[in-house]
Amino acid sequence: MAYVYDPTNVFARILRGEIPCHRVLETEHSLAFRDIRPQAPVHVLVIPKGPYVTFDHFAAAASAAEIADFVAAVARAAAAAGVSPAEGGAGYRLLANAGPHSHQEVPHMHVHILGGRPLGPLLVPAA
Ligand code: AMP
Repeated sequence: MAYVYDPTNVFARILRGEIPCHRVLETEHSLAFRDIRPQAPVHVLVIPKGPYVTFDHFAAAASAAEIADFVAAVARAAAAAGVSPAEGGAGYRLLANAGPHSHQEVPHMHVHILGGRPLGPLLVPAA
């Protein structure tokens, strides 16, 4: 499948500095910032700087350096947010939406880091 990246999406605009974000950390290939509508006391988004639409697009098209940088950035962002079990935090959940069934809103690949309270079951049961 060919992925078509929309450079007007909100995360592309954050990366270009056109709109502000509350930065948690930045690396060579990744940026972590607070979600504007937090669904838990800790709600951080981590994005690659490259133009990838979904997790599968990123996995297929990103370089090994970008992928390694992103994985490390997710772990570092969790630690910076105080939820990493490796550093005494109470833990977190990673969530990555991809495509319409997931309700992905922003078509720039991102991982949510959620924590700061017990998060309950993974999914709400289907009605
Ligand atoms: P998703 O449904 O996985 O695409 O999640 C997109 C997330 O981006 C949502 O949780 C939004 O609250 C968040 N979001 C949208 N615009 C911004 C923004 N300008 N700054 C930070 N987070 C945002």
